[in-house]
Amino acid sequence: MDNDSVKTEATDVEAVCEEAYGRLVSAIEQGTQIKSTQRIRKAYEFAKASHGDQLRKDGSPYITHPLAAAVIVAEMGLDEESVIAAILHDVIEDTNVTHEDVARKFGEDVAGIVEGVTKLTKMRYTSKEEEQMENLRKMLLAMARDIRVVLIKMADRLHNMRTMEYQTAPKQLEKSRETMEIYAPIAHRLGMQKIKLELEDLSLLYLDPVGYHEIESALKEREQKNAGFMERTEKAIRRRLDEAGITCGVQSRTKDIYSIYRKMFGKSMEFDEIMDIYAFRVIVDDIAECYNVLGCIHELYKPVPGRFKDYIGTPKPNMYQSLHTTVIGSEGIPFEVQIRTWDMHRTAEYGIAAHWKYKEGIHSRGDEDKFAWIRNLLETQEDSDAQDFISNLKVDMFADEVFVFTPHGDVKSLPAGATPIDFAYSIHSAIGNRMTCAKVNGRIVPFSHVLQNGDVVEVITSNTSKGPSRDWLTIVKSSEARNKIRQWFKRERREENIITGKAAFEAEMRRQAVPLTILNDEKALARILERISVSALDDMYASIGYGGLSAQKTVNNIKDEMRLIERAAKRAGANPAWMSQNARQQKAVNGIIVEGIDNCLVKFSHCCMPVPGDDIVGFITRGYGVSIHRTDCKNYGLSAIREEDRDRWIRVYWAPGEDDLYQTAIAISAEDRDGLVMDIATVLSSLKIKVDALTARNQGGGQAAIYITVRVHDKSELAAAMTRIMNVRSVKEVKRQGA
Ligand code: MN
Repeated sequence: MDNDSVKTEATDVEAVCEEAYGRLVSAIEQGTQIKSTQRIRKAYEFAKASHGDQLRKDGSPYITHPLAAAVIVAEMGLDEESVIAAILHDVIEDTNVTHEDVARKFGEDVAGIVEGVTKLTKMRYTSKEEEQMENLRKMLLAMARDIRVVLIKMADRLHNMRTMEYQTAPKQLEKSRETMEIYAPIAHRLGMQKIKLELEDLSLLYLDPVGYHEIESALKEREQKNAGFMERTEKAIRRRLDEAGITCGVQSRTKDIYSIYRKMFGKSMEFDEIMDIYAFRVIVDDIAECYNVLGCIHELYKPVPGRFKDYIGTPKPNMYQSLHTTVIGSEGIPFEVQIRTWDMHRTAEYGIAAHWKYKEGIHSRGDEDKFAWIRNLLETQEDSDAQDFISNLKVDMFADEVFVFTPHGDVKSLPAGATPIDFAYSIHSAIGNRMTCAKVNGRIVPFSHVLQNGDVVEVITSNTSKGPSRDWLTIVKSSEARNKIRQWFKRERREENIITGKAAFEAEMRRQAVPLTILNDEKALARILERISVSALDDMYASIGYGGLSAQKTVNNIKDEMRLIERAAKRAGANPAWMSQNARQQKAVNGIIVEGIDNCLVKFSHCCMPVPGDDIVGFITRGYGVSIHRTDCKNYGLSAIREEDRDRWIRVYWAPGEDDLYQTAIAISAEDRDGLVMDIATVLSSLKIKVDALTARNQGGGQAAIYITVRVHDKSELAAAMTRIMNVRSVKEVKRQGA
């Protein structure tokens, strides 16, 4: 090859790109309100340089694809950010360009949209049953957050479908199935009729080429047989409406192939039975005109009974509005007429996207409204600028659910905040019970890890696993997992349940200052057991142990029963042994009762900073009274096994009814970002938690360690705060000091 021909080739590429860009510029001029193409030109040049000499399967320069997607976005009438994001939609996925690069050049808004599209592009679907598809659609919408991400993804998919002929046969099938099952239904829900119909027809071409061509040729045949029918009818309608003094636009079309296909194969209709193969559309200026047009049409042609539908009075859930009627033409050929206003027409074609430019004309009523959220947003934001409305529209209709994949590509829907434990039990209780560790997107995570939309979750099990841990009950979000864990403890661990249940029960008795000797009174015990519906004391302990009975409720029941017995005893002049003991209660210091010692000096250890609700023990220090530790404190664990210390550890418990604040500390690790500390501080202040000190350290590698000293009433208040902090963006771990 000589130099000249190389040069010619390069110029050709340049010409192809410029031509594609030119198409975008005219689409912008015609379809959007964008005033200047300066930033768009910059995006085009940046994307072109980034994609370099990358080619599409058809041999054209890669940049022609994002430009074509941007044309579709411009035709929808979206804003400048969307058009720019469409041009850049593949740069993060396919080139070295990063989110930061895009943000620096085109702003955070554009970068966020591109990032969102990239996330959706990375998702892989496998064809599944209908229930799975519904979850996939929801997941896609939930992941997108910003509705513009979905719309750009639609444009991307539409252009890929238009150029699908250059792909391999398996790829054509895979993409067409995905389009038919995921993207077309979403387009439908968002009211984007035009794109939905095109996506369906393009998919059908690959999914059932024989059926597609059969209908295509039947339509051609029909066209030849009824040559000129459409033109004649259109003219007749125009003439009649002209006479009535109605100004309008009239369009004619044959029905799209997939709709005919569905009627023929779904409803087993014959091609000739389908009445709306020919359709005419009359578009007028206002609603009153719509009904006038309807009258004229029914005068002109004989209406088919039962085929009139008023979607103006009762719009479809996706905001579609029109009058539909089917009539018999002068040649005996049936056809459909759709009558609507221009506003309704734009909404019908572009659905939600239409509201960038035109926000009038939404009169959505109808109670089967699945997409009430769109309508609600439209209604509540009626006064704000349309542009603002759509940029702020977040897809949060599935905020209480999270959608994750199994390693096989099945989608599981779990409550928001769910952990790998919830996931494991949602598959099978045996999986949960034998879980030893969990991976999310290939990486091992702690059991408390909060799952995100689109995560691939894998559970690793072992037959030698000792079963679930009691802590799991406080971590899991789904009642399914909680019940299955409880069942396991009930069944598998009676001995252990009795021990842990007894300990919990006795601790609660001490906390509420109820003497344990009550249980030595046989008569009293029988009444107590009957009251809580168990037949033996061990059964009561076992139930408390697996979580079926709460220790607190049990003790409350016992106190109620004691009051009844006491009253009866006093009346009879008797005095059971436990009653005298009950009277001699120990005094608390700093909210702590030290078993056997009154009024001793009590201080809280700095290594684990216990708060009410924590299981605690006391250590008799040399000269400074008793220091209080959590039973899970490392120092207690180390010291309790040392011979010389063993006798210094004594039982202590929280005095009931105290309402003091206790100081404790939490350690947070997170990915560092602007506003992180602010967000955490906001959470704490919204919970009215007192913060004594807060230090934040950058640990390098974009990681931050934050250490906060707070004062709380008890463990549950602390736990609530920790859960809320865990939900702050970019926070990875929240733990207590000493844990
Ligand atoms: Mn693409």
